[in-house]
Amino acid sequence: MENCILKVALDTPLDFCFDYVWPLAEGDARPLIGQLVLVPFGRREVMGLIIAVHETTDVPLEKLKQAIAVRTQLAPLSPEWIALCAFAADYYQRPLGEVAIPGLPKNLRALKTTSLDKAVKKLAKADAVHDATPIAMPQLNAAQQAAADAIAGAQGFAPTLLYGVTGSGKTEVYLQAAAQILAHSIDEHNPAQILILVPEINLTPQLEANVRSRFPGVALATLHSGLAEGERMMHWLAAHLGQARIILGTRLAILSSLPHLKLIIVDEEHDPSYKQQEGLRYSARDLAVWRAHQLSIPIVLGSATPSLETWHHAQSGRYRKLELRERAVKDAVLPKVGLIDLERKAPREQMVEGISATLIAALKLRIERGEQSLLFLNRRGYAPVLSCDSCGWVSNCTRCSAYLVLHKLDKRLRCHHCGYEQRIPRSCPDCGNVDIQPLGRGTQRVEENLQMIFPEARILRIDADSTRRKGSAQEAFDSVHRGEVDILIGTQMVAKGHDFQNLTLVGVLNPDTALFSHDYRASERLFAQLMQVAGRAGRVAQKEGGSASEVLIQTRYPQHPLYSAVRKHDYDTFASELLEERQQACFPPFMYQALLRAEAKELKIALDFLHQAIACVEHDGITMNDPIPMTMTRVANIDRAQLLVECSSRPALQAFLKIWISTLRDMKSRVRWSLEVDPVDI
Ligand code: ADP
Ligand code: ZN
Ligand code: ZN
Repeated sequence: MENCILKVALDTPLDFCFDYVWPLAEGDARPLIGQLVLVPFGRREVMGLIIAVHETTDVPLEKLKQAIAVRTQLAPLSPEWIALCAFAADYYQRPLGEVAIPGLPKNLRALKTTSLDKAVKKLAKADAVHDATPIAMPQLNAAQQAAADAIAGAQGFAPTLLYGVTGSGKTEVYLQAAAQILAHSIDEHNPAQILILVPEINLTPQLEANVRSRFPGVALATLHSGLAEGERMMHWLAAHLGQARIILGTRLAILSSLPHLKLIIVDEEHDPSYKQQEGLRYSARDLAVWRAHQLSIPIVLGSATPSLETWHHAQSGRYRKLELRERAVKDAVLPKVGLIDLERKAPREQMVEGISATLIAALKLRIERGEQSLLFLNRRGYAPVLSCDSCGWVSNCTRCSAYLVLHKLDKRLRCHHCGYEQRIPRSCPDCGNVDIQPLGRGTQRVEENLQMIFPEARILRIDADSTRRKGSAQEAFDSVHRGEVDILIGTQMVAKGHDFQNLTLVGVLNPDTALFSHDYRASERLFAQLMQVAGRAGRVAQKEGGSASEVLIQTRYPQHPLYSAVRKHDYDTFASELLEERQQACFPPFMYQALLRAEAKELKIALDFLHQAIACVEHDGITMNDPIPMTMTRVANIDRAQLLVECSSRPALQAFLKIWISTLRDMKSRVRWSLEVDPVDI
């Protein structure tokens, strides 16, 4: 009997690997790097990842525990995949195990192997994929063809920005580039996998259907948080075993195991949902670029409004820029954008419940012509606050620095931050006044108002509240596509990506607040959002007797330069100006940032911790800003503060963070803290 020592990464906050003994009888195969292993940890048994296999270790053997079982039925995770996790761990300042293990499907981490064995068997039985010839793809226009050829023909690491206006047919470019790469790989008996990332689960069904009809013989796997555990395991395994050739997923898919990855596509690359906002706060877009670099493969970042980071790389020549300037469908043109001036004194715009006469007239016309309209309002619920006119009471959440939002349909006041909810009071809790009023408007209220204005119209609201049930979002979008809806009201859920065929009007209700946000990214985001939602209109040619496509934005600041840029659909100028501002103000992408957050029962404790964090370390060349309370200071009875750290060099910041984190860990403070690298919400 011989022993070997397994170095195992575990999902713990401790930043090192753990040693376990694994006895080998004569003829036993040695465990391999990348295999999963069940080990005792404290009083539990947990799943770990073998990072190294050694003959000896410094620790005396009798002090080491024995591993329980190696999951030999699963092919080991590749060194490239482990390197990806190691990079993410290093860059985002997390232990390797906290990156690698939670990313694996839950069933794979389970103590029993039943579901793993079943899944492996099922996949082995699955018909070998026969590569049928793809059904006819539409003829690309010249710009699309040039883009598809450039992407598929690229050698090695080739980051490309596909900068195309909404409706320019970026999806078609992705699919035909993918087709070229798949066709190649069939000839050479060199399997290829293609990863397509989309920002929203709700965009996967349309794209999935598209991909399936184009590539009938090619196995497709989807990966997103909406899958049941069993499905997730099957899809993950199909990708890991190389059976799935096209992998379609949301941000979490970037950490999946893809042994034959040959092309990565990041659709709507500017979208904030590529950034994970808890736990490992990674940017899937950034990791995708790293992964493409690691594997020396092409990557496409597609957008009509690229992030300034990506735009900057394209301008400086680090990324190649491919442009699609026109809509792909014949005679479809970008909608005309009009601003409805809510402040104009004479003649003053008549308003009905927050909706202007101009917009109402435009909606009426669409209903008469059997066309669809979309109203965009990024606020769910009925009204953001309930208030008492006579004493000034407002519906504050007692646990958060936020209002309780009125949800009239289910008769609740609800906090969107901590989940607290209560019945709607009949009278003011402070003075007893029975006439308490909702202030402001959310999607439910707009829906109610519109139904009063247009009693005959078929109105559908799509937001997080109306789509809680699994599959309900899909049903809702399907009914819009089938033409069963006249007016669609929704939050950002409806703004992205959807290819509506009969929609000629987009109304935007309340975008102004973002103009004056103290987050320097707010205007970039608002611009992208407006361009995205505007892009849902006019995706086919104007019909005879039909309306020209149109976007109407209700605003109090029609003179604002952001709106002028939106009217001209001029992202180039807008982005160049923003970049210049960022450079002058030393903001990203000309500066690298990290954010240390602290949470405590009292604000002072959190702030004190952050001051200590500054004092505990040398920080030459690093700018430590003053610790401040977060904008939303209190959530669920916890006060939160933050400290922004900046440096003009990424490596210098990285080196500093490494030392800083280990010092902070040693402080063993009872304050809960977390570090975010490249924060997006400051
Ligand atoms: P984007 O993602 O750039 O907003 P889409 O990929 O959704 O645009 O394409 C917009 C519409 O144009 C879709 O209905 C698509 O089927 C159509 N389309 C794309 N390319 C072509 C083409 N070459 N000829 C005709 N229609 C096209
Ligand atoms: Zn009152
Ligand atoms: Zn709350």
